[in-house]
Amino acid sequence: MTTPPTIRLFNTMTMQKELLQPSVPGCVGVYVCGPTVYSYIHIGNARTFTSFDVVVRYLRYRGLQVRYVRNFTDVDDKIIKAAQETGEAPVALAARYVELFREDAKALHMLEPDVAPKVSDHLPEIIGIIQKLVDKGFAYASQGDVYFSVSADKDYAKLSKRHLEDLCVGERVQPGDQKREPLDFALWKAAKPGEPAWDSPWGPGRPGWHIECSAMSAKYLGETFDIHGGALDLIFPHHENEIAQSESANGVEFAKYWMHCGFLDLEGAKMSKSLGNVVRLRDALQRVDAEALRFFFLSTHYRHPLSFSDKALADAEARMEYFYETLRKVDERLAGKDFGDGPVHGDPHRFLAEFECAMDDDFNSAGGLGALSGLFGLMNELTDKPPVKDKALVGRTLRALREDVRKVSGVLGLFEDDSSAWLLRRRERAVRERGIDVAEVERLLGERTAARAAKDFAAADRVRTTLKEKGVEIMDTPAGTSWKVAAAQG
Ligand SMILES: [Zn+2]
Repeated sequence: MTTPPTIRLFNTMTMQKELLQPSVPGCVGVYVCGPTVYSYIHIGNARTFTSFDVVVRYLRYRGLQVRYVRNFTDVDDKIIKAAQETGEAPVALAARYVELFREDAKALHMLEPDVAPKVSDHLPEIIGIIQKLVDKGFAYASQGDVYFSVSADKDYAKLSKRHLEDLCVGERVQPGDQKREPLDFALWKAAKPGEPAWDSPWGPGRPGWHIECSAMSAKYLGETFDIHGGALDLIFPHHENEIAQSESANGVEFAKYWMHCGFLDLEGAKMSKSLGNVVRLRDALQRVDAEALRFFFLSTHYRHPLSFSDKALADAEARMEYFYETLRKVDERLAGKDFGDGPVHGDPHRFLAEFECAMDDDFNSAGGLGALSGLFGLMNELTDKPPVKDKALVGRTLRALREDVRKVSGVLGLFEDDSSAWLLRRRERAVRERGIDVAEVERLLGERTAARAAKDFAAADRVRTTLKEKGVEIMDTPAGTSWKVAAAQG
């Protein structure tokens, strides 16, 4: 029997790092609040979902059986408003953005969750839990609406550690409100003309935002499950309200561990739709490689704030280029060769051990990438200036390192591409951006090859200089000459 992995994670509920001990040993239920599908997702959303994508991948890598649920909010005020603007039916608009989200998530190498439930498919479950709350005295109906009574829940706001008195300051029940207390929130909203509506014991209407996650997580993961995740701004009121609903209805703990992903800002400014400075994931992926964007997200710990800028993206892509150039070199070295069994140089697997150690510590992907730097550094040393002469020994060591890169690749969703294909795409993008004439580059490279064949090295060097002035860098390798677009100056 293998020992269970020792993964520690920061639990927002206790504000401490805790050992992950799933309710059912070996099996982990994960629920992440998904997108409200009324427009394209922005890069801040993409960071959150990428973080949990890696959490799920790592739990599986560690041998845990994971059930990953991420919902779609397809019934919501924002959707109704957006549909009024486009003239579509709200359901049709939401369905369209569900598909666009799936495309975006796939483009960013995200795994599909095991279950991706939609609100519109779960009205019976939602009405069921609201009825339970009404029956138990935690909720009340009022003119076709149903509200959760916050004062009936003795430990309301335990996740955000707020005090009810503070939350109430300045809050009043407005004239026309159907609720009794200012903090009470809607579980069910009576139908208004032109809005999607379903029948219920309280008349036709639709669910409030928070209740869907209580209903759908219970259906797919049980009344108590292991990890609940989302962005930091969901703690209050969304997650607080989920806890209030679920624990009041079911009388048991809702989620054992709460994980929250930090904010992403635009060069120091908070991204917001009202400021008009929102970067859509789809637009970002026109400008930068998907794996480079993932690398950028993962190079900072998921709980920390992250600043998005053109420079940060360019740096991430340059780093990915270094990784892929290294892999291409190593793959060329290993291709078609069998170095047999035998000793390796040093301890090549130490980097994977370091990587696991970092990831075991609250999914510290930044630390994990640090371990990878060491691994790629050693790969370059072994291919460029090996410290030992025994070629088979070097080959076996490179093979071991390459194998560990494949393992890490499955966790991070990086290095999943063929290295030559990736490098060519990167070059094509750079060529377009810098306006480089590829035909001319090829012609000059031909001249240089001819000059070298004629042993006219001065002429060959002149061509190299000419190309450099055009932003083109030549690499001579045992496999032949290739070229890339040099890093932009300044
Ligand atoms: Zn939720």
